[in-house]
Amino acid sequence: MTTTKLHPRLDNGITDYPEVKDFAGGTLKCLCESNRVEVKVDAQTLHNHACGCSKCWKPEGADFSLVAVVPRDKVHVISNGDKLEIVDETATIQRHFCKECKAHLFGRIENKDHAFYGLDFVHTELSEDKGWSAPQFAAFVSSVIETGTAPSQMADIRKELNNIGLPTYDVLSPELMDLLAAKTAELNGTLQE
Ligand SMILES: [Zn+2]
Ligand SMILES: [Zn+2]
Repeated sequence: MTTTKLHPRLDNGITDYPEVKDFAGGTLKCLCESNRVEVKVDAQTLHNHACGCSKCWKPEGADFSLVAVVPRDKVHVISNGDKLEIVDETATIQRHFCKECKAHLFGRIENKDHAFYGLDFVHTELSEDKGWSAPQFAAFVSSVIETGTAPSQMADIRKELNNIGLPTYDVLSPELMDLLAAKTAELNGTLQE
């Protein structure tokens, strides 16, 4: 038994993610009662995962966020964009959030030398459309300690994540770490084919 809450969409397993083949995207909406910020995403998301870092937006009481990426040219603000602000202009990922309800609508990297430049970070739980890609792994798991989880709970948390089918990593998945390192190698001129 554990007292933690991974995330409302994970606590019953990943059954809330009926991933649909050829799904072409949908609309993310902020949590305001009215005049919602709406962001249209014209593509299926990639690399959906649970993230334990302190920067990603998560629902009240959740230890993890659920975050995925999508090409930035597929992301368009379609209503109430005037309510969007950037959490931290100096951060690698500029997280555009609704200043009223605080939900993060999309995160964008403006540094063209970053391995993930061209990809926006989105939380598809903000969409009522069904078919988004399912979470595949959990990243920055140890970081939940920084936001108030007792270290003694970590074994249970990792077990819980594994039980719903998510391998756990304390940074990103090996695939994404390889992309970051390859970009560094490219910039250093040491990248081998
Ligand atoms: Zn809002
Ligand atoms: Zn994160």
